[in-house]
Amino acid sequence: MSASQFRPEHRFDIVVVGAGPAGLCFARSLAGSGLRIALVERQPRAALADPAEDGREIALTHRSQRLMQALGLWTRLADDDVSELRDALVLDGDDEDGLRFRRGSGEAGPLGWLVPNHAIRRAACAELLATTDAVLFDGLRVTGVRTDADGAEVRLDDGATLTADLIVAADSRFSETRRAMGIPATMRDFGKTMLVCRVRHEREHAHTAWEWFDYGQTLALLPLRDPHLSSVVLTLPHAQTMAVQALDAEAFGADMARRFHGRLGAMSFVGPCCAYPLVGVYPRHFVAERFATIGDAAVGMHPVTAHGFNFGLRGQDTLATAIRDAHAAGRPFWSDALLQGYERAHRRATRPLYLATQLVAGLYTDEAPPAKLLRRAALRAAQRFAPFRKMVMAGLTDDGRGPLSSLSSRRAG
Ligand SMILES: Cc1cc2nc3c(=O)[nH]c(=O)nc-3n(C[C@H](O)[C@H](O)[C@H](O)COP(=O)(O)OP(=O)(O)OC[C@H]3O[C@@H](n4cnc5c(N)ncnc54)[C@H](O)[C@@H]3O)c2cc1C
Repeated sequence: MSASQFRPEHRFDIVVVGAGPAGLCFARSLAGSGLRIALVERQPRAALADPAEDGREIALTHRSQRLMQALGLWTRLADDDVSELRDALVLDGDDEDGLRFRRGSGEAGPLGWLVPNHAIRRAACAELLATTDAVLFDGLRVTGVRTDADGAEVRLDDGATLTADLIVAADSRFSETRRAMGIPATMRDFGKTMLVCRVRHEREHAHTAWEWFDYGQTLALLPLRDPHLSSVVLTLPHAQTMAVQALDAEAFGADMARRFHGRLGAMSFVGPCCAYPLVGVYPRHFVAERFATIGDAAVGMHPVTAHGFNFGLRGQDTLATAIRDAHAAGRPFWSDALLQGYERAHRRATRPLYLATQLVAGLYTDEAPPAKLLRRAALRAAQRFAPFRKMVMAGLTDDGRGPLSSLSSRRAG
């Protein structure tokens, strides 16, 4: 493609499509690398700088917390934004005791942390704008992408074209740029919708997260900093979710207390109440010629195992580290070999949990009697089998001592 038709201010090394948490963190990870980065985001700058609350409380692993610290995001969070997760409890049906996960007496710190998604977005945007010279094209939608052996170009809906050596798509699980590059993806629509909402409750939550696969509904409780404040996560068929969302504040509180069988006493609505259709997405490839996907565009997890952003952070770190190293060594950071290496590492890191999550989400929302028997048996076996609990704990905390820790520990910028 000819470069002469483009204005110099529209030429970059890397164009990132989407300034969600993954795109912002990736651009921040490349600070100080000497690479010229552009981010294109359809939302206006004001919405990025002060994002609206979206009800999502993001459970973060130890690896993610360290990555956020290294990227300068953690210190930008207010104390109130961070809640400790000390215990996790998994319940099935009318089971009273369930399967409990907690850190051993010799292990320091909590299981993980909960941080509102809008607070992560705000911190990532502030950090990016304060510490990098990445150029933000906000309020603009990417309408087309094209790559070949000589370069890459990104078309915007105002008619402008950006050129680069590499395009990185961070434009959600329904990534239009991934589709435009012809990368097929396996999608599973669970036919259910997840409702998230903050509630106040009479009894203290003891910083315990609940995942309750009840019959006819799946409930989760995410404990926030205030011992009487939690986020409830309710999964139901779409029409039922809409009916719950339409309840007034008083009826909503009463409905939640009933759904939790009164185990936390009376409940009252705090809000906001947001609904998310549940669709898992895993593309056949994360990369193509001069093109890579990160964040949900690479792995669109079902939220039940709380790993979407954790994987997003890890993937952007893997890719950014490989790019920094290649650029510093004078090697092409857009080479097939580099991109394939990223794909292999990120598939290894995400595929097993993605498949396990699909299985759990399918099994534990299946109301047929054989599935009910199977899930009860699975939980009982897990209760007795210590290595299984250890494995789940390792996944929950993910302390980053795995094969990618050398990449993760490198500070950006
Ligand atoms: C209810 C719920 C609970 C969750 N809980 C957890 C949890 O506990 N732990 C966890 O790790 N993860 C969790 N997740 C997942 C987490 O929220 C996502 O993984 C994360 O937000 C994805 O970030 P992203 O940047 O990849 O994508 P997004 O946040 O989807 O951002 C994509 C960005 O791209 C922009 N964009 C899209 N198309 C274009 C275009 N054509 N041109 C320009 N811009 C474009 C969009 O405007 C958007 O800003 C949860 C998700 C949900 C729904």
